Amino acid sequence: MDALSALNHYFHYRSFLDNQQEVVERIYNGEDLCVVMPTGAGKSLCYQLPILMSEGYGMIVSPLISLMKDQVDALIAKNIPAAYINTTVPPVEQHKILHQAANGVIKLLYVAPERFQAPAFREFLRETPPRILVVDEAHCISQWGHDFRPSYMRIGEVADAFSIPQVCAFTATATKKVRDDIITQLHRPDMALCVAGFKRPNLAFSVIDVSGAEAKNKQLEKLLADKKPTIIYTSTRKAVEQIRDTFECIGYHGGMTDEQRTEAQNRFMEEKTPVLVATNAFGMGIDRSDVRRVIHYNIPGSVEAYYQEAGRAGRDGEPAECILFSSYADRYVQEFLIEMNNPPKEVILAVYSRLLALSRESGSTELEISRSDLCDLIKEAKNEGQVTSALSALEHQGYVERSYNRSGSGDVMLMFREDWKELLKLHEEEKTQRSRFIHRFLAYAKGTAMEERRYPVRDLAEIAALPESNIRLILRALNGNELSYESCPRTGSIRLLRPEETKPVIDFRKYEQKLDLDMGRLDDMVRYVYAKGCRQKYLISYFGEESHTWSCGTCDHCAEFAVTSARPLTRDELVTVEIILLTVKSFSGQFGRGRISQMLAGQRSADFVRGGYDDNACFGLLSSMRQSEIMTYMKELESAGFLERTGREDRPCLALSPRGKEFLRNKGTLYLALPEKSTSAAKSSPRRSYKKK
Ligand code: ADP
Ligand code: MG
Repeated sequence: MDALSALNHYFHYRSFLDNQQEVVERIYNGEDLCVVMPTGAGKSLCYQLPILMSEGYGMIVSPLISLMKDQVDALIAKNIPAAYINTTVPPVEQHKILHQAANGVIKLLYVAPERFQAPAFREFLRETPPRILVVDEAHCISQWGHDFRPSYMRIGEVADAFSIPQVCAFTATATKKVRDDIITQLHRPDMALCVAGFKRPNLAFSVIDVSGAEAKNKQLEKLLADKKPTIIYTSTRKAVEQIRDTFECIGYHGGMTDEQRTEAQNRFMEEKTPVLVATNAFGMGIDRSDVRRVIHYNIPGSVEAYYQEAGRAGRDGEPAECILFSSYADRYVQEFLIEMNNPPKEVILAVYSRLLALSRESGSTELEISRSDLCDLIKEAKNEGQVTSALSALEHQGYVERSYNRSGSGDVMLMFREDWKELLKLHEEEKTQRSRFIHRFLAYAKGTAMEERRYPVRDLAEIAALPESNIRLILRALNGNELSYESCPRTGSIRLLRPEETKPVIDFRKYEQKLDLDMGRLDDMVRYVYAKGCRQKYLISYFGEESHTWSCGTCDHCAEFAVTSARPLTRDELVTVEIILLTVKSFSGQFGRGRISQMLAGQRSADFVRGGYDDNACFGLLSSMRQSEIMTYMKELESAGFLERTGREDRPCLALSPRGKEFLRNKGTLYLALPEKSTSAAKSSPRRSYKKK
């Protein structure tokens, strides 16, 4: 079965999204591939499909229970045989699933990386290794990535130990350092790299050189006079508050309470043209697609951070701006932050010995202590940030385990594994605390006790009428017998993993390297400010995407070099103009420049396909041209008065102007300020249809 038929057969999709087919075919052909594509580009299918097309089963390592569950649920809904194994699955069930994978009944087996330590699981791998091992969210493997998971470091060893023939990695965030780490850690030096989909031709990047709060505010005032949905990023909470108060806009930072932040988010989602000022704490899970402008009030610490934040503009494909205020002094702020994030050896050692002392005092290896309280105890630390960073260093080294999740503070995932009615009866007398817990909880939860659900420990304590502190002890005792449970991360909880070791053995040179690395990333960001040539090209080549002949056509530098004098168009160019005008006509008032150029260029992004726009007669009519080139035509047609704007101010749509209609009726020659050697519809062959090698 070829890839396209398999896609239709298993997923019932008509066509591949941009870049999917190449990846599917390369993986199908047995290549070890490290794939970097943005979120939403459809990475899962890139590994799922080749596994379905081949013999045997594939194993997918995924970091979060919830992610795994979502993926498997979606597959099962499509009748694709998939399953996952993690702590929430009872042993009997696990056994059954492994058996089914070995027999090829289950094709896609998702596992948490912690599994690889379990002897029974390793035994299974020895006997029936998967044909391919896929590492999803592969940046978790890198100590320098933002989501480092120590258990990911074991994956390379597993691939070796069980001679797994093919290993592939997927992530949305990887810079060179992290990419290299992925390939090294997986022990696959020949792994090929495939980076795609980072180009965003609807985003116009620019840099404004302006220093000092006063000048920056003046600049901001000018920009904000034009009302549209806007995010302003600053590097400090203080600046957030200053700007919020000066401009009476929405503020958001990590120091606000949960309620305040929720309110800020809601306002941002609901208002027509909100202006929100935030630290980098804002953004995750926000999907307002019509953000028209992202302004950076300060230079951020790295290109990754910048592209991620700026990239929240124009998710709907329509034109949006990404403006960076640059001032030389910002560099020093970032350097200060980097030093805070990379504490010296003395601070790391002091934090560790303090934690040990606290653990001895309390008689528990699980400590509930806030960062600021801990900071007060460490005289070596300059600020709270250094203490947090020291903790994260200790975590990387496997000495402590921290929890981050605020919303999940003190929650557990819980599921009973034996018949609840029987248990209820058995524990009727509530002779012990455990018994009382079982009885009261089952009386409360009834049949739902048999499903894995999330409960706050506080609620469990209330249901069983027992102190909160006893609940975890009880759960731990019952775990693996009557029930299985797992702690969801708690706020500020720190667990000592090797309390018997009084002095941590750490390679402090690594931390010096990290300091250099962070400084280097800042240099790369500063270099962006002074870079000549296309802004976006600089950014995407930083991520490793090929961009030799590409330019965005819309950034301040590209615009500077754009031709300003009109010239008569060639016949081919006239055909292009005609196609654009006809398309605008048929979508009159529905779409703006972004969508129309996307459609004509024949781009298949998930959003676009979901809207069913790839089904249109106009789709891919100008597929020999790049979207940015089509946009240049459209901009020019608009300023020459052939197109005009309709619709809401913050959501511009295009329609034909009387002049545009007139041109379609009579044709004839046309003068436009287009670059000299632009591609046009009739010249090159369409790249729409995929050519088989
Ligand atoms: P990623 O992991 O890259 O963030 P996902 O694999 O979660 O992205 O896919 C994003 C969305 O795109 C999903 O809703 C998926 O069902 C959809 N999708 C993927 N491939 C296709 C396709 N060929 N046609 C239509 N929709 C697709
Ligand atoms: Mg994914």
